[in-house]
Amino acid sequence: TEPFMKSPPKPFPYPLYVTRPFLPDLARYQERLASIWSDRWLTNKGRQHDALHDALRSFLGYDNLSLLNNATQGLCIALKALDIQGEVITTPFTFPATPHAISWNNATPVFADIDSRRLTIDPQSIESLISPRTEAILGVHVYGIPCDVEAIDQIAKRHGLKVIYDAAHVFGTRLNQTPIGQFGDVSVFSFHATKLFHTAEGGCAVSPSPALIKTIDLLKNFGIEDEENVSAPGVNGKLNELQAALGCCVLEEVQTELLSRQRVLSIYQARLASIAELELVRIPGEASNSLQYFVVRVPSRVTGISRDYLHNALRQLNIVTRKYFFPLCSTFPHYRNSLSVRIPLPKAESAASEVLALPFHGQLTDDEVHGICDAISYLMTK
Ligand SMILES: *Cc1c(COP(=O)(O)O)cnc(C)c1O
Repeated sequence: TEPFMKSPPKPFPYPLYVTRPFLPDLARYQERLASIWSDRWLTNKGRQHDALHDALRSFLGYDNLSLLNNATQGLCIALKALDIQGEVITTPFTFPATPHAISWNNATPVFADIDSRRLTIDPQSIESLISPRTEAILGVHVYGIPCDVEAIDQIAKRHGLKVIYDAAHVFGTRLNQTPIGQFGDVSVFSFHATKLFHTAEGGCAVSPSPALIKTIDLLKNFGIEDEENVSAPGVNGKLNELQAALGCCVLEEVQTELLSRQRVLSIYQARLASIAELELVRIPGEASNSLQYFVVRVPSRVTGISRDYLHNALRQLNIVTRKYFFPLCSTFPHYRNSLSVRIPLPKAESAASEVLALPFHGQLTDDEVHGICDAISYLMTK
């Protein structure tokens, strides 16, 4: 067994991307399209919408669920449904949609630092930022690692705050057997094409509160109560029939994609765990792995090799990795000189400069994953 290559690896003849959308059996999708054609019902709670709604409720284990046209709109609607107008303490180590949803609602995102191990929002940092204007906490279960939901819950109770979770990376995740969306007031999932389960574009909100989901249902449909009553200034956040049908097909086959990603994960773990200069970002044991991303960390103490070096060198070999989540949201021009950045964020900065998401999806062959590992081994140890 020779763990490290002596000669430089050859570039892949085609690019290996971080993700590729899962596509279900086309004939099954065509059957659903035929049923849409015969119904002549393209959106507004048709049969495909209702089928996906029911299937997701039972698959994920949520009673109260509202399908949406995407997660960004879903976060905006969720914040509106909770009537959030003041300050929302959130994480800078996330996709831009998280703080933008707060800002779009004319509320103020305030960035807390992250826990250096979990990479999710740090409860102590949250407490240091609470002001008379604080109304909510918006946490992100980044890469599928659950936030410290119990500590956040206690802080929220103590200070009378709402809790919203960006659940874009935790489709199917259970925390000690409990579906993760049972924590907090509301959680929003993304069904974007780059996510494990998808409807091309789409999402959903779940909540322990049936009343809150009712408000979200209202707000995503212009605030229309019935034919003659419009009770709130809503928007259009509906998921249409063509996308709901795609979701039904993807959900029927999601187990295949999960198994295939588990295969890829096992190869990565077996091959990369022994590289001392590399840390693998792991999902803690109390949570099931959503298999959304596979992320490594190149600690800056490693002499000579930086994350950026690895990223660029892999790019030369046609291995396209992504620096999720760099740059930090707190560095965007809209936020950096605003009331949003009040404390230094050293742990978030260090994570953002060290993380690298590797190609991770079910279409990768064993040989391709081994090729990626060969390249990383060579680059990290030569
Ligand atoms: C993908 C993603 C979003 C945005 O989801 P859309 O459905 O594309 O709007 C929000 N937050 C995080 C953390 C994401 O990864």
